Amino acid sequence: MLLSLYIISTAVTGLALYKTIVFIFNQMPKLILPLEFKFIQRLLNGRMQMGADYGMSAETANHMKGPATPVPTSVNYHFTRQCNYKCGFCFHTAKSSFVLPLDEAKQGMKILKQAGMEKINFSGGEPFLQNRGHFVGELVKYCKDTLQLPSVSIVSNGSLIKKSWFQQYGTYLDILAVSCDSFNPETNEMIGRQQGKRSHLTSLYQVRDWCTEYKVAFKLNTVVNTYNTDEDMADSVTSLNPCRWKVFQCLILDGENAGVDALRDASRFVIQDEQFNEFLRRHAHVSCLVPESNEKMQNSYLILDECMRFLDCREGKKIPSKSILDVGVDQALLFSGFDESMFLKRGGRYTWSKADMTLDW
Ligand code: SF4
Repeated sequence: MLLSLYIISTAVTGLALYKTIVFIFNQMPKLILPLEFKFIQRLLNGRMQMGADYGMSAETANHMKGPATPVPTSVNYHFTRQCNYKCGFCFHTAKSSFVLPLDEAKQGMKILKQAGMEKINFSGGEPFLQNRGHFVGELVKYCKDTLQLPSVSIVSNGSLIKKSWFQQYGTYLDILAVSCDSFNPETNEMIGRQQGKRSHLTSLYQVRDWCTEYKVAFKLNTVVNTYNTDEDMADSVTSLNPCRWKVFQCLILDGENAGVDALRDASRFVIQDEQFNEFLRRHAHVSCLVPESNEKMQNSYLILDECMRFLDCREGKKIPSKSILDVGVDQALLFSGFDESMFLKRGGRYTWSKADMTLDW
């Protein structure tokens, strides 16, 4: 009798133990996989994030990057596609009116800084359209004051900038680049680089003076196209005395200024390489000139669109990555099409902090 009871109780205990072990075994994937998944997700979301999570410094985590991962040293954030001008060759057109909320844009800046960004350039569209310049102003202030980026710059058409903007934000801005393709008002009108009858050149000279007054380095950008290719701009540029005069060759990008779903047809603006070279020869004595052919330009910029997606231009059109806010900087960078060696070859790294510039102020 006692033996039977002993056998039965042992069997019941053994069965319970066996069931417990089977239960735990069955639950293992559910318990462990999410942890693994989170770990893998963190890896994908960028090593910098992982470095911060595990107490690693930004520098150490940066050194862990593989040789194939470019460092986003210099980034161009086109946060808006809206513009008050109608340049016929524009290659970042108003295909969307979306602009990220300011907090999310700042978060993007923060993770780019953690990934190695040293220079941010805000561009558009026209950056001073959004919230009458306060959106870009707050980003400029955040990047310089909070993130302490060595270089913060803006590319603008200059027409919407007010003196009060310089009073509020000028101290945080290193470089302001204003676009000007001609010193002939009729040519600007033909290109579409003006709003209504308001003179683009009046805005240009006014902004130049404010840059001097508020100690912001002034830069000039020119797109050489059919309408200005024969112009001699040397005297006017020299008198403006920009720290750099970037001269671009008119670029065609499918879906932006060419093709069926584009908002522009820039074919009448296109010039041949020889015409571009002739323009460069005519202005070779202008010491601040920095030429940029289509070959140099197309893949040597890290471009973020309004959703913080890198734009890959290698196929002659803009193919977006996923947003850095969703997948992290490193993962998005793999789809940026960025040619780091061309970036260095075109002189992408230069004295870009106004603290290091010797300007005639
Ligand atoms: S000013 Fe710039 S963004 Fe505006 S239409 Fe002209 S090229 Fe495009």
